[in-house]
Amino acid sequence: MSITSDRPATVDTEPVTPGLTDARWTDGPGGYTGVEPTAEWAEEVRRLARARNATLLAHNYQLPAIQDVADHVGDSLALSRIAAEVDADEIIFCGVHFMAETAKILSPEKRVLIPDERAGCSLADSITADELREWKAEHPDAVVVSYVNTTAEVKGLTDICCTSSNAVDVVASIDPDREVLFLPDQFLGAHVKRETGRDNIHIWAGECHVHAGINGDELADQANSHPDADLFIHPECGCATSALYLAGEGAVPEDKVKILSTGGMLDAARQTGAKQVLVATEIGMLHQLRKAAPGVDFQAVNERASCPYMKMITPAALLRSLREGRDEVFVADDVAERARQSVERMIAIGNPGTGE
Ligand code: SF4
Repeated sequence: MSITSDRPATVDTEPVTPGLTDARWTDGPGGYTGVEPTAEWAEEVRRLARARNATLLAHNYQLPAIQDVADHVGDSLALSRIAAEVDADEIIFCGVHFMAETAKILSPEKRVLIPDERAGCSLADSITADELREWKAEHPDAVVVSYVNTTAEVKGLTDICCTSSNAVDVVASIDPDREVLFLPDQFLGAHVKRETGRDNIHIWAGECHVHAGINGDELADQANSHPDADLFIHPECGCATSALYLAGEGAVPEDKVKILSTGGMLDAARQTGAKQVLVATEIGMLHQLRKAAPGVDFQAVNERASCPYMKMITPAALLRSLREGRDEVFVADDVAERARQSVERMIAIGNPGTGE
């Protein structure tokens, strides 16, 4: 049975802001287009959000205009926890679908909307619930640890969730004699295996094509051409292993390399003494880093590392969502209950971090 809300899906959607009266969106291959992120657009978005008693949440990888109009910007888990705490009827989650599902799991009484439900995630899609059931059947005594980039159904089959900040702590908390199934990110899994020294951890061969596209060669080239720069690396990046190797070889000074969650990057940005920082993660992150530390020159290791799913949340999609009350996110009650337990077990271990 699905969780539903009694609140009407639509509110007073008549545009009152001059310049947006004729705003219409078209549905193109990359999502909804046709609306520019002008000051009038931002004003109309804010007005509609107030009329709906909605809170706008934006992930760090969203377009800068979406980040700037939101009430809160952050990582997936941090935003889901804010969704659960805020006094609002609706949550408009500007991110990808599994993130909106996580918000719904943690706040079942609220209506959760995502501006375009087609905004998926290649990493979350790299394991289905059926595939996980089969894997569990092969290792019936194993403890299942899932990174938060998974669907609600996969979380419902998981023992403990983890974020990139706490994955090592979560796995270290498990009886060393129990097998662990770690999914879906192979690079985060490799990082955890190395850090914990466990040899009874099985790692699903999933990956995010955006992070996997940031490779060690590119990182080495960038590091060599910017010898004074710090390197901020997200552990889901394919380059993380290479970065640690390079640091061990002395090719990149060890104290320059920082393996960080996206939340940890913001803290490190405020504290760095470096004039320049090379950032190996999705390029949307640069917007928040530049705002957090305006005096530091942040450069992407790979300018092409842009998540096409995140960028489906366009100004047009957000306007459509607020005017039409779409797309609502549903999670079946039984799935939500089991998924919530896997998230709460992670929080109980401490250091919940912030997710992607
Ligand atoms: S950057 Fe990768 S892991 Fe993140 S939402 Fe996009 S596809 Fe998924």
